This record gives sequence, C-alpha cells and structure tokens, in this order.
Amino acid sequence: MDRRQFLQSTTGVMISSTVSLQAQATMRAFLPGSAQIAARPAAGMDYLWINKDPTRIGWMILRDLDVMLEPKAVVESAVKANINCIMLTAGGSIAFYPSTVPFHVHSPSLSGKDFFGDLAAAARQNHIRMGARFDFSRQSKAALDAHPEWFFRHADGSPATDATGCFSPCLSTDFYRVQGLKIISEVMDRYKPELVYINMFVNSIRAPGVRSTIDPDPTICRCKSCEAGYMKKYGKPLPAISNEEYDAFLKEVSDNASQMIADAIREKWPGTLYINADNDHSDGHHTEARTPAGNQVWLYSSSENVNRQRTSYPERVGINICIGYASNTSRLVIMPEEEMKLHFYQAIAHGSPLAFAFTGTPLTQTDQRELDALRKFYAWHAANADLYSLQVNLARVLLLCEPETAPRYRNLLPDQTNKGIYSMLTEAHFPVAVSESAKSMQEAAKKYDLVIVTTGAPTNGVKEYVENGGRALFINQEPPFNFPSPVREVSDSRTGYVEIRDPKAFPSLAGIRYLSCSGSYSALDVRGMQSQQVAKFFIYPDEKGASLTFVAPMVEQPAEFAHRDLKQTDIPALITRQVGKGRIAFLPWDIGGFYAAGSIPIHAGLFTDIVDSLIGNNRQIRSNAHRSIEMVLMHQPDKHRSILHLINCSGQSQNKYFQPIPLHSIDMDLLGSFSSARARVAGADLKIANRQGRSFLTLPLLNGYEAIVLS
Ligand SMILES: [Zn+2]
Repeated sequence: MDRRQFLQSTTGVMISSTVSLQAQATMRAFLPGSAQIAARPAAGMDYLWINKDPTRIGWMILRDLDVMLEPKAVVESAVKANINCIMLTAGGSIAFYPSTVPFHVHSPSLSGKDFFGDLAAAARQNHIRMGARFDFSRQSKAALDAHPEWFFRHADGSPATDATGCFSPCLSTDFYRVQGLKIISEVMDRYKPELVYINMFVNSIRAPGVRSTIDPDPTICRCKSCEAGYMKKYGKPLPAISNEEYDAFLKEVSDNASQMIADAIREKWPGTLYINADNDHSDGHHTEARTPAGNQVWLYSSSENVNRQRTSYPERVGINICIGYASNTSRLVIMPEEEMKLHFYQAIAHGSPLAFAFTGTPLTQTDQRELDALRKFYAWHAANADLYSLQVNLARVLLLCEPETAPRYRNLLPDQTNKGIYSMLTEAHFPVAVSESAKSMQEAAKKYDLVIVTTGAPTNGVKEYVENGGRALFINQEPPFNFPSPVREVSDSRTGYVEIRDPKAFPSLAGIRYLSCSGSYSALDVRGMQSQQVAKFFIYPDEKGASLTFVAPMVEQPAEFAHRDLKQTDIPALITRQVGKGRIAFLPWDIGGFYAAGSIPIHAGLFTDIVDSLIGNNRQIRSNAHRSIEMVLMHQPDKHRSILHLINCSGQSQNKYFQPIPLHSIDMDLLGSFSSARARVAGADLKIANRQGRSFLTLPLLNGYEAIVLS
C-alpha cells in the first residue's frame, strides 16, 4: 500500500492512546460529533471549485514590515493585478490579527490593528476569495516555559531553537491538537477563509533546530511524547540514528496530526479546502516552481507536476505555485520574467490555477518589471477565463510512474527515468497523461492507446487492459505477467550497447548501428546532491531474430585496441509479446534515464519508433513543429470542446530563460474530426480540413504561447 492508497482508505481521526486527556477534550470541543467521524463516507469525486473556477491566486507571505501597509491598498493592488484569490499569512507562529489565544505572539507592528481581518473584508467586497496561511514552526520562549511538553527535544533535553530565539514544536505532542487547533479555529470562526494552508509541517532535518553537538542524530525528536509513542509502536526506545522504522513512526505522527486538522475543518467548516505543504492527509497537493540551482533545470517541471496531480487525483486540489523569489535564503532575488511565464504557461495548460507567491504583497514587490509581467499574464488569464475552467487531459498515452515518497519528494532513479520519458514524448509532440495512481487504469481501455510503465509504478489493471486489446510498454521494469525472470543483470560502470539488427523496425535510426544502454551516468537528486549511478541491463534468454540486441561492455582503451572483443549476441534489448488481444513491449534497460542524463537524440528516435509501432503509427498529433514546442491537448467537458495548448520552450538554454524564438507555419494533423479552430492569442480562426478521421490545420505564428479552441 503506497502513501496515497493509505490516505484514500483512511477516514476519521485516529485518536491514539498517546493523545492526552487535555488534547482529547480540546478536540471534542472543536469537533462536535467527532465520534461519528470515522463512519463518514469518503468525499465524492466532485470537482473542487479550485479546479473548476478560473482562479488567479496572489500567495502573500507576510512580513511584519507589511503590516504597516493599508489593507485596502493591498487589496487594490490585488484587484489591479486581476488576483481573484488571496492566500495570506494569518498566524501560527506570528499572528497578523489580534489573536486572543495565549502564546500566539502578535506581529510587533500590528499594535491593535486587525490586518488580516481588514484585508479579508476588503477582499470580499471585491469578490476575491480568501485563504489563511499558517506556519507553526517557531514558537516563543513564553510558550516553551508554559508548555515544555510541546517542544522538539535533543538528546540532552535542550529544545530545538533557531537564531531568532524561537523554538520548534513537535508533531507528536499536544501542540497541534491543542494550540494549533485553537489558532486555526479562531481564524476560521472570525474570517471564514475558503482555503487553509499549513507551511513547514515537519519534525525533521528541515526543522529550524540548532544542531546539538552531543546528539548522534539531531533530526530525531526525543521529547517525552515521541519516546512514549515509539515505545508503544515498537516496544523499544528511540534509535540513536534515524532508520526506516523511525521514518515510519514520524510519518504516522505527522499523518495523525494532519488528519485531525483535516477532520476538524471538514466537520466544523465544510467546504473549506485544506492544503498541507508536507503531509497528504489534506484536500490537496501543491507543488512549487522555483528557480533551480546550477544545472538542475528540469524544463517540464510545472507541466509534469500539474499533469501528475490532476491525472492521479482529479478529485483533489492540484496547484502549482510559482515562487517569486529564488530561495528561502534569498527572498529579494526574483525569478526572471521569461522563466516565470514558462511555468505559468505549463501550469494553466495542464489545469492548475495561476498562483504566484510574493514576499510580502504586490505593493511591496521590489522587482517592478516582474510585477508588470505578472499583471499582464493575469490580465490575459482574466480576459480568457473561459479557457481555464475545468480541463481534463485528453492524451491517449498514459505514463504510469512510482508514487512520490513524500509530498514533493521522489526517488532519484525512477524520477530520472520518468523525466526522460516525459521529455521524449513531449519533444515528439505526443500529448501525455502522467499518473502515480492505479485508479487511472480504471477506464484505460476507453482513454488510452498506450500505457507506459516505469520502475515502481502501480501495475494493477495493466494486464486486463492489455488482454482486452491495449498496448503497454515497460521501461526497465519487468512486466508482471507473461515473462520469465531475467537470467542475470549487467551492473558495470563500463558502457554496454544495443545493436540495431533490424533497421526496418527503427526508421528514425537510419545510419545508426549502436546505442549506449548500460554503464555509468550521472543523476541528480531533488535536493541537489549529485550522485553517480550505474544503469543496469537485464539479460533475458536469447531470442533468434531479435530486432535489437545487447553488446556487452568491451575494451575501449587504449584506442588502438578498442572493440577488438566486440561480440554480437542474441540477447534481446527489446522484447515483445502478444498478450490476449493486446501487445506488450519491454526494454530491459533504462532508456528514460539515459535520455534524461545524456539527451542523445538517437535514444529518443528509438523510443518513439517503438511507441509508433505499438500504436500502429496513429499518433494523436503529427506536426512539423520544432521539438521545443510542448503540445498539451485538454478537454473542457462543460463546454464540449477541446483546447490545444502550444508552449514555446525555445527560450530555455541550459539554466537560462531567454525570450522564446518566434516560430512560423506550424502544421498540425490531429486525431479526430474537428470543424472549427480558433487561435485565442492570435485572435484568428484557422482553416481546418478533415480527412480519414483526422483534422489538418496550420498556425501561422507562435510566440510564447497559443491556445487553439477546437470544436
Ligand atoms: Zn517529539
């Protein structure tokens, strides 16, 4: 069971016996009828307003400095920027309203004002939705003295503290159940926000603790509550150094605390959406687009993030926030305009609301050029809002991948594979849907011509899909049916090759004989730590007549003796099978990882030749467009029409984002008979012709983005 299945199967508060009587009393006070919660059915599959209503969020991370602004003026700046939903810091550590909850420290410049309340009232008058942002990660000395039991403790008993003299509460204590709930309830009762967001919901190395020198692992909280909870779960004391058992304990602690908050909100203020930055026991899932460090650019990050959220969990909040600053340690270093626009294009094409995180407010944005660009973008979205109501991905290729291991965290190697596959499909203009949920296979026979399975992906339903006529391509993951086990694996840092034995099977590879398929390649993890990995090749029994075969690593040095031990083999590097009415193909090596790491075009050619062969050369989109154009095909069920989004990524070069190069005369030939096509950016109808179940059209000019409405 992965974390999402667990989440979907869990309802109700898990009041464990480690929850104190005081906390149970507080929870009962805030949760009338909480005894019935566990029996309440899971929420239905209705789409949420945030996925249906064209939404433009101004995500305002308040500083004390900003409280000196006039709230009405902030709302006026939001109106001017066409923001129709404000997410504003309410409190948690520092209150931006006159909180009466003990130890909820007021922002020093608040001095009796109700900044949050006045801003919320002005926002409502302007028909702007309100969200309340909380961050509980830093508490005062007074709170520590009054409630020493709430806090994260090192081995010597000292509390985790930071440079500003604040202290970090622990997720397993009563802090969130008592203090957290009181603060959230106060804000909910007074201001009725439609969204609640909690930031920094963590008890880990990311907590703002100064490292204790005598603690072998300062990331482990050793408070009484953690000690007792761990003993209860495992019958032994907390480990010296964190391990898998500790991670599971911490996850359970975090899940219980977040589920309790989710249930409190649902019970008392139904309809409010709850998002937790670090826990999935909530109504949604958010990702962040940030300026990456060094060479970690992942061109399709916003695309793939939103695509995966919306395909995997269509009933949940799916939101990609463009972070307007470079990092939490450089908040005045701003994301460049062209980079911001590319993230926005990708997010709205795949069905996320627009969301931009300000340091402070639009009034205090220090880069006016970025603010102007943002205003123009939001104005376009507002003027064309009909394009951005509920959109459903119409792609006929489904990429199934390993679920995230925690919100916004993925395992390095499967993620590398998926990035490569996503890039190869997108560069060849294949619309693609990405899912980490087996639920996506439920209607696969109707929706998809091809399912691509990568390492760690859920495979429930794939066999039935293929037996009934579907096609599946397995990458570096053995099909769970109709396959013997591999004879052995080649795990060698030297390069192995595949040899093209049947050139007719791979029309893109004319003139090519060998491609690298195993050996070392460098992979980058999401935290930016470089690590060298070996790509493996799995040896299966010989197949006479195989179109692609394995060539083992050879002598490569010195050049004078290179390749004198080259041996042709019959070891298949591509294995195909008929299964029922369908067909599967299996690459026993990581072509996706190779492409992500090396970007060698012949790997992409080999991959798309295999895909074309599986789908009978009947691509959903054929086009002469440059490979840097991303095409996203979406459907608007309530408007009975489709939208082809074209995103011009040609301005991206290494880790730089220039203006995209204008591209002309883009011919497209689409599966399906459409009778009209309107290019909304160009403001022009495009001529459309129909032949043999396909539609032919030409876009004269593409600058950054185009949305072609097809009906
Ligand atoms: Zn603890």
